[in-house]
Amino acid sequence: MRKRFIHLRIPAADGAIPGSDATVPAEILVIDGRIAQVSTAGSSPAEADEEVVDLGGLLVLPGVIDGHVHFDDPGFTHRENFETGTRGAAAGGVTCVVDMPCTSLPPVTSRASLHEKLAAIEAKAHVDFMLWGGVSDNALQEPEWRSHLEAIVEEGVAAIKLYMLSGMDSFRDLSRSQLAQVLRETRKLGIPVGIHAEDREMVLALTARIRAEGRNEPLDYAESRPAAAERSAVDTMRELCRETGARIHIVHVASGEALDVVSGARDEGLPMSAETCPHFLEFTAEDLAEQGALLKTAPVVKSAADRDRLWEGLAAGELEYVATDHAAGQWPEEKHTGAIWTDYGGVPGVELSLPYLYSEGVLKGRITLERLTEITASAPARFFGIERRKGRIAPGLDADLVALDADDVWIVHAEGLHNLNRYTPLEGRELTGRVRAVYVRGEPVYVRGESVRGSEADGTELFSDPGFGERVRRETRAEA
Ligand SMILES: [Zn+2]
Repeated sequence: MRKRFIHLRIPAADGAIPGSDATVPAEILVIDGRIAQVSTAGSSPAEADEEVVDLGGLLVLPGVIDGHVHFDDPGFTHRENFETGTRGAAAGGVTCVVDMPCTSLPPVTSRASLHEKLAAIEAKAHVDFMLWGGVSDNALQEPEWRSHLEAIVEEGVAAIKLYMLSGMDSFRDLSRSQLAQVLRETRKLGIPVGIHAEDREMVLALTARIRAEGRNEPLDYAESRPAAAERSAVDTMRELCRETGARIHIVHVASGEALDVVSGARDEGLPMSAETCPHFLEFTAEDLAEQGALLKTAPVVKSAADRDRLWEGLAAGELEYVATDHAAGQWPEEKHTGAIWTDYGGVPGVELSLPYLYSEGVLKGRITLERLTEITASAPARFFGIERRKGRIAPGLDADLVALDADDVWIVHAEGLHNLNRYTPLEGRELTGRVRAVYVRGEPVYVRGESVRGSEADGTELFSDPGFGERVRRETRAEA
């Protein structure tokens, strides 16, 4: 049996290990990848055969669960693949990614397509992963769509993705009545749904009008996808939540108005939640005008007031967690097609989320350290039904940990990222706090810089082998 001690440092300001119950300096005993014991430092010394990892001086947090990534594998691997995507994840302190079902071919809408995807990616993952399943208009054309949905739920998909507005022919959006049909099934199956919520009719009409006027600037694109379109779609989902009782999660909320609707629904007792992304917490339409297509996403960045409202909602618990919506287009080709309308919509994000949230959230006083561990780890673990396995530093759970060099001041450069297509709207930004070492099930998946683990790290970077990452299945039913 393999045993390893990991010595944890207590952050001075708090007197506790964030994301755990420990309130005094502690040590973690890991046996076979799981946390066996969190004990007071020095109370149970390591035995001779145990490996000791000293993380003294570093800030240790639960490994990040990024609930929304597009790693494009198989099918769109010119954009990302599971090896490069999970390398970026490892380097960013992300110990489990949850990959979307719509940006691989075939999309994950049946048992067969799920197995096809697993066969393509399993040998590549550096960190643990879950898979979203989905239901598209395409899938609904199959008479046996209900049994396909039931089968992927049985297979342990994390949750079910649905679109109210999709730009993808291979994963088309659903009408209101189709949504109602699907939500009745997910309710029965005890699985939550994640909704891309923008009002299709409104966006298509605006887009047609603006394009007919010959306009082609980043802000013209922003005008075609206003906050009102997001709010209208979330209003519809609130009604559908009332009608069906399904557990509904709004992905990548960008506007304060949409967040207000979700909060109203929760006050009403409806099982609704929402996530936002680092780019919506940081950037506004002014930045889009300046950065152009590089910052193009869907939904698109909004106003400074929206941004501030999202931070407030994040601190107050109105937003359940942060996910990156990591979506890297082929760089630079797909971001420079000659028209903002056809330029790729999406930004890579999996590697920078934790350093960003620590630097701009915790150190700027917008969220507490404890809240950081909730929005990056324990809340997504609960949402995806793996709270008995991941998301906290506690006995019985996987030893998924990230050690941050909390005082390291560094400059973000796209060329230093590890995913396939490297660009970032944070280019040139100074952040404080940098990932130093990352453990999945007790094993190092990423180590950077001077030695933190005996003599192995020699000033370069270490990664786990591709294929080390394991697939994680949803274990519990959705809380209604
Ligand atoms: Zn997405």
